[in-house]
Amino acid sequence: MPRPIEAIIHRAALRHNLAAARRAAGARALWAVVKANAYGHGLERVLPALADADGLALLDLAEAERARAAGWRKPILLLEGFFSADDLRSIEHLGLTTVVHGEAQLRLLEAHRGAAPVEVYLKCNTGMNRLGFAPAAVAGALARITALPDVRLGSLMMHFANADRSDADAGPVAANEQLRAFAALVPEWHGPRSLANSAALFMLPHAGGDSVRPGIALYGGTPVAGRPAADFGLRAAMTLRSRVLAVQQVPVGGAVGYGSRWVARRPSRVGIVACGYADGYPRVAADGAPVAVAGRCAPLAGRVSMDMIAVDLTDIPQADVGSAVELWGAQVPIDSVAEAAGTVGYELMCALAARVPVRVDD
Ligand SMILES: *Cc1c(COP(=O)(O)O)cnc(C)c1O
Repeated sequence: MPRPIEAIIHRAALRHNLAAARRAAGARALWAVVKANAYGHGLERVLPALADADGLALLDLAEAERARAAGWRKPILLLEGFFSADDLRSIEHLGLTTVVHGEAQLRLLEAHRGAAPVEVYLKCNTGMNRLGFAPAAVAGALARITALPDVRLGSLMMHFANADRSDADAGPVAANEQLRAFAALVPEWHGPRSLANSAALFMLPHAGGDSVRPGIALYGGTPVAGRPAADFGLRAAMTLRSRVLAVQQVPVGGAVGYGSRWVARRPSRVGIVACGYADGYPRVAADGAPVAVAGRCAPLAGRVSMDMIAVDLTDIPQADVGSAVELWGAQVPIDSVAEAAGTVGYELMCALAARVPVRVDD
């Protein structure tokens, strides 16, 4: 018998979230962001549920190959572009659209001679200061790209640093400031523009553009830290669940786990759950992190071990060895676990460990 832990990928939730993103996108085209193995959900597992998207966005050529092998015929956008002349040949071969974000890529593109035109998205740096041409360099890059016979400029593109917070809370790089900077770039360009990630899609309806690039929202994670995903009509696309494998009676003053971080203040029943940091549960999760046992909330009690966690079952007398445990999913929002671990739902999804068996639920 395997350990009782498993992850379930819910295609109905993915379809539901895609539809919610579609409604928010209106007439704009929708790139479903599936980088990092579809945020840990498994690229091949999610593709059937994302068939209605206009394209996939990812950043690994190997993942683009996997999507094509799985039968994805629509566009695929490479979010970081390419790293070599060989990559450009693969891009042509796989029929990909690619970001061009800097001078080195532009030079490779200028040296490329292909049989079919390559479509590119010109990435502009409007304040994120990660990838993209500086505002003063965009017009020059655009002119060089449009001069290339084997290249088609598909869109200008930018990325928001603070689409999930109000301009007053955003510090030096307010979303509306980025928006103004982007609008001011090459006003003579009347072709498509691409701006919004999930947060901008839901929080900045006036951001506009011709295509949007939601990722986290498709998987049912909140696009806005501090607000539940349910506020945006999103459903968890991943459940991580397990079972109680032992129960300990812990007297007052008794401690649980490594470092004895959790100490019983009342006679306690502590459940040991088959899930640890080697499964992807965050080791830094604080005492009190929410875990559902038999449908009730059982707070995390003590340090997360490699293969196990402990939870306080004192107020759930019906819970016992064998009881069903949800680490995250429809009952326990992944964002609540992330908050108890000082991180975001994105990181937990992406960190689901390879040893966890995964099942797909249509
Ligand atoms: C990851 C990524 C996205 C998706 O972001 P979410 O916050 O998951 O919606 C969109 N655009 C770019 C350029 C990205 O790298």
